[in-house]
Amino acid sequence: MKRVCVYCGSNVGRWSDYAEAAKDLARALVNRRLDLVYGGASVGVMGVLANTVLAEGGHVIGIIPQGLVDREVAHPGLSDLRVVASMHERKTLMAELSDGFIALPGGLGTLEELFEALTWAQLGLHQKPCGLLNVRNYYRSLIDFLDHAVAEQLLEAVYRAMLLVEEQPARLLERFECYQAPPVAKWVNGTST
Ligand code: AMP
Repeated sequence: MKRVCVYCGSNVGRWSDYAEAAKDLARALVNRRLDLVYGGASVGVMGVLANTVLAEGGHVIGIIPQGLVDREVAHPGLSDLRVVASMHERKTLMAELSDGFIALPGGLGTLEELFEALTWAQLGLHQKPCGLLNVRNYYRSLIDFLDHAVAEQLLEAVYRAMLLVEEQPARLLERFECYQAPPVAKWVNGTST
């Protein structure tokens, strides 16, 4: 692995633990000589993450659509800032450049990005690991919901298991190193095999 994409909030959230987790993840990335790929903003958890990687001497690639340069305050000090035309281009480039995906606490944008990475993995469009940092148990109900979806037989356990959940960034990155993607399902008569 060379680069990890991190999705996270454009707000800092209610508790300082969210920003602290972003700092821990930043340090864990730099310790492993992994470059950061992220949304290119200087606001919220995103900004804390990028600033800490830079302060620790790491490399940060930010990708931001032109329309969000002002709203999310494109980070002026990144190693590499790429301004793209659309949100779709942003997500495609972030995915192409990265060898794995991590979500820190965030809102709708973070959730959308994480689930896109997961659904692309389910379809076999990539074989890269996807992880969730469950800081302060922020994602508890989301994790419970995914287990409910498995129980209801609308999500297969093998695809549920693609989402690696940890509280500690270093542990999540260790699991990334030995990740094996599941086989891609084929649909026969309406059920997957
Ligand atoms: P949020 O988690 O909502 O604070 O947003 C975190 C990041 O996700 C921000 O950089 C948003 O621009 C981005 N974002 C918001 N909506 C989307 C979307 N539909 N697709 C991809 N990224 C998004």
